[in-house]
Amino acid sequence: MSDAVEAKGSCLCGAVRVTAKALDPKVGACHCKTCRTWTGGPFFAADCGSGVTFEGGDNIAIFSSSDWAERGFCRTCGTHLFYRLKESQQHFMPVGLFTDSDLLVFDHQVFIEEKPEFYRFANDTNDMTGAELFAQVSADQS
Ligand SMILES: [Zn+2]
Ligand SMILES: [Zn+2]
Repeated sequence: MSDAVEAKGSCLCGAVRVTAKALDPKVGACHCKTCRTWTGGPFFAADCGSGVTFEGGDNIAIFSSSDWAERGFCRTCGTHLFYRLKESQQHFMPVGLFTDSDLLVFDHQVFIEEKPEFYRFANDTNDMTGAELFAQVSADQS
């Protein structure tokens, strides 16, 4: 993450403001059923590591979406704020939160096998199945 940048944003109603100290500009889209149900479409997110701070944190509701991860959203306006790994506190932040999107690059798509047929992105990306993603994550941690 040598090209990581600081990024700031907020939810729709302004109750929650977020600062990511080191956002990796390589954006991923997740097509898994959970993300599509949560967001209404593919989930475009940037890896922000554990260096994420919130103002108005009392306004964040958290849903435990699996044994290993949880999802945060604003209690008032419903804006999605993060998907994070419980153990490492690694945050994947919806890129729509951030005011400056010029730095972002659409880099990869995951759970490509769960993508419905009715849409397809034209960007040249690195695509992975869920199994390939989990294999890469466990390789990174060993
Ligand atoms: Zn809000
Ligand atoms: Zn997903």
